[in-house]
Amino acid sequence: MGIKKERMPVKKRSAVERKKDFKEVSSGYDYKSALAEANRCMKCPNKPCVEGCPVGIDIPEFIKSIIDGDLKEGFNTLLKSNALPGVCGRVCPQEDQCAALCVMGKKFEPINIGILERYISDTAVEKDFKPQKSKKFGRYKKSIGVVGSGPAGLTIAGDMLKYGYKVTLYEALHEPGGVLRYGIPEFRLPNETVDREVENLNAMGLDLKLNYVIGKILSVEELLEKHDAVFLGIGAGLPRFMGIPGENLNGVYSANEYLTRNNLMRSYRYPEYNTPVKKGKSVAVVGGGNVAMDSARTAIRLGAENVYNIYRRSRVEMPARSEEIENAVEEGVRLKLLRNPVKIIGDENKRIKKIRSIKMKLGEPDESGRRRPLEIPDSEYNIDVDVVVMAIGTGPNRLLLDVVGNLELNQWGYIKTDKETGMTNIDRLYAGGDIVTGAATVISAMGTARKAGKAIRRELENDRQNK
Ligand SMILES: Cc1cc2nc3c(=O)[nH]c(=O)nc-3n(C[C@H](O)[C@H](O)[C@H](O)COP(=O)(O)OP(=O)(O)OC[C@H]3O[C@@H](n4cnc5c(N)ncnc54)[C@H](O)[C@@H]3O)c2cc1C
Repeated sequence: MGIKKERMPVKKRSAVERKKDFKEVSSGYDYKSALAEANRCMKCPNKPCVEGCPVGIDIPEFIKSIIDGDLKEGFNTLLKSNALPGVCGRVCPQEDQCAALCVMGKKFEPINIGILERYISDTAVEKDFKPQKSKKFGRYKKSIGVVGSGPAGLTIAGDMLKYGYKVTLYEALHEPGGVLRYGIPEFRLPNETVDREVENLNAMGLDLKLNYVIGKILSVEELLEKHDAVFLGIGAGLPRFMGIPGENLNGVYSANEYLTRNNLMRSYRYPEYNTPVKKGKSVAVVGGGNVAMDSARTAIRLGAENVYNIYRRSRVEMPARSEEIENAVEEGVRLKLLRNPVKIIGDENKRIKKIRSIKMKLGEPDESGRRRPLEIPDSEYNIDVDVVVMAIGTGPNRLLLDVVGNLELNQWGYIKTDKETGMTNIDRLYAGGDIVTGAATVISAMGTARKAGKAIRRELENDRQNK
């Protein structure tokens, strides 16, 4: 029997059904499909796919465990290099990472690595596999303070626990996970998945302190006195706006606020939960990334009759994962491509009535490599809307950065670190994730944290040997 050229299809709920609720869209693979997909893997001895993974998961090894029927072993293989397999299996852009280097992909469809990863981690939940506590746990008295429980913070916490250090993780919000919790909606990443992966870290000995705003309750200087090294993984969630007239009208949200109200504060269940959100009959979401897709699909689920996604380039340039654009369109989101808002128009009560956009065309590539959008003169037109969500990117939040004396930042206001070690200019202070790179991806945040963890370990071991 020859190798199957196409991937095993992934089951997802119909658009008609799924747009009525916030439950997960895709149900991943069952045993039969996972086995068939795993059997497509060519088991390349040089494992190019692993090169494409910023945290170096041994992909062929965990795929082999599916073929061998030893999913517990597969789960352990995943946990060796990834504290968040259920998360990565759902939201990691594999098409640009591991799967982009899959040899199968040269001629046929690459192996569906993410969905196989998800299959193992979901089976681990179903069968209640527990992570093995590191034999080294508690070996060292030295401790690490981690600020922020997004993917960067959770990754370094897991790594340092495995190395045998004590770890205290300080999170400002009342629930852990960072963007995984308050940004990415339940229909793509259920909170249960995040809970489970945090529980695994708790079981490994993590000391998690919630409602703990560093910079207010304790300063970074105080943390450096308490711990032998400190890692800042505080994300970059400060919303950006366009600076156009009307952005202060009632019903204009940043995507960050809109999604946080829904995901963290459960406003879709208002008044059972006490945070409201304006539902809107017609909603415009501005931007072309995952955040824009998540906001538009949230608006659909909140019951909007018309949801317009306004983006200034064409579909090819949209930074969102293509499967999420497809899902959004299936659910009824109307793409308004090559359009850019110039004004939001309100009534005398400061309520939104319309959004005014100008048509665009693409010019020569700009510094990002994408073709530059150019305005078409005299092409403005209005769409009737009552809610506008701005999903055009985020920047660094200065709340903590401004109170750390002498911390060096780069020209965009992100923390300046050594690329290989995550070291800042302050002794024993490290940083990683979006607060260093600018808004990026889950796996890149995890990759920077992994590097910082290795560097901290080297430093602490040197200290020990020199004593
Ligand atoms: C809506 C949305 C959808 C996305 N979709 C995808 C996707 O599909 N795939 C993908 O790979 N990436 C996606 N991303 C990007 C990805 O989620 C981020 O790149 C990633 O979460 C960054 O991780 P981080 O650990 O650096 O920061 P974050 O996840 O932002 O976590 C930072 C944490 O630090 C805490 N914190 C901040 N300041 C303090 C303080 N002073 N004291 C204590 N705690 C503090 C915050 O509360 C937060 O919990 C998405 C992002 C958004 C917003």
